[in-house]
Amino acid sequence: MRSNLKVNIDTGGLKRGARLVVKIGTAVITNNKNAVCDKVINSLASQISTLQKEGFKVIIVSSGAIAAGVHRMGWQQKPKKISHLQAAAAVGQVSLVETYEKEFKKNGLTTAQVLITGEDFSSRKRYLNSRATFETLLNENILVIVNENDTVSTDEIKVGDNDTLAASIANAIQADLFVILTDQKGLFTENPTSSSHAELIQSVHVDDEMLNRVAFRSHSEFGTGGMETKIKAARIVARLGIDTIIASGFEADILLKIKSRNFVGTTILSGKKSKAISARKQWMLNHIKAKGRLYLDAGAIAALVQYDKSLLPVGIVKIDGRFDRGDLVVCMTETGVEVARGLINYSSFEAEKISGLLSEQIEKVLGYIEEPEIIHKDNLILISSSFEDSKTTGANSSKAEQ
Ligand code: GLU
Repeated sequence: MRSNLKVNIDTGGLKRGARLVVKIGTAVITNNKNAVCDKVINSLASQISTLQKEGFKVIIVSSGAIAAGVHRMGWQQKPKKISHLQAAAAVGQVSLVETYEKEFKKNGLTTAQVLITGEDFSSRKRYLNSRATFETLLNENILVIVNENDTVSTDEIKVGDNDTLAASIANAIQADLFVILTDQKGLFTENPTSSSHAELIQSVHVDDEMLNRVAFRSHSEFGTGGMETKIKAARIVARLGIDTIIASGFEADILLKIKSRNFVGTTILSGKKSKAISARKQWMLNHIKAKGRLYLDAGAIAALVQYDKSLLPVGIVKIDGRFDRGDLVVCMTETGVEVARGLINYSSFEAEKISGLLSEQIEKVLGYIEEPEIIHKDNLILISSSFEDSKTTGANSSKAEQ
């Protein structure tokens, strides 16, 4: 497993060998006629070629397939029907990757295409397979261009958007920095399209309350998520100590500026060092959907956070959701702040019956006992940096993941 972060946002500069996941939005690489923009891709290619020569590793997550498909099929606007969107993506992905291949080749780079879905990451086997492919391609200095596999993605199984997909990839390859290139200069205090008072936020901590207020939706026709999904993606990578930069894909030499830490765009600081959690726990944390929530009393939270103990039924005050034994659940404070996630030993039906009870009472109430713990500490991951810090400082505030 890779350990030391090669980024030091405060003291400037990305260190050689750093891994960057760069997500590029539809509005950046397609023009107003929805055609893929060779010039933009060429500029990215030349910057990435410089970065590669200096030893950096880059993975691109590129949107734009649907827009390019709509253009290629001569449609006047983005269709509403999901099967039409999927068809457009299938057509447009070819133009998209063709342009990447052409422009990157001019800059001496070899490209590879990976189409993937969030569902692929929820299967441990597929996750490991894709991670091994990414590692091999990175080591061979191949420029990987990822997009969501829109043909097999429906609303239900879709990651939701490429921001989230890119965040999952950044976590899977343990990136040093996550960059989101969009048609905006970064995050603003207000919506810059409707307010003249909007100011660019240069840097903000991922747990800052301000982020809940600036997550307005995008106005662009093809971008699916707006700032909301970008902030959500930043929260996902922050769990592994990765910082995010949201910046304009139209700014000249944007990636080179980011490399040398010229202050461009908005930096969302994770506030943590890379977490030394096992690969299995990392996967659990990033790729398994939580099925329920357990609200815990102060004693249980102290046991988890300060003493690294397992979660016992006695500390549970409320349960939300339906889950089975082995499912992932979120552990919250009574006021709804996320503390940990873990694989639960009891179904929601059983957990309802034994919550608040001592472990010795489990057998009497259920007629059997699976384990004395509701979640064993080996299957439990603490979430917030502030909670982890509270082991030494006693501080304990954090935001729940949205
Ligand atoms: N996969 C979609 C495309 O390439 C984009 C999804 C998104 O905008 O996040 O067009």
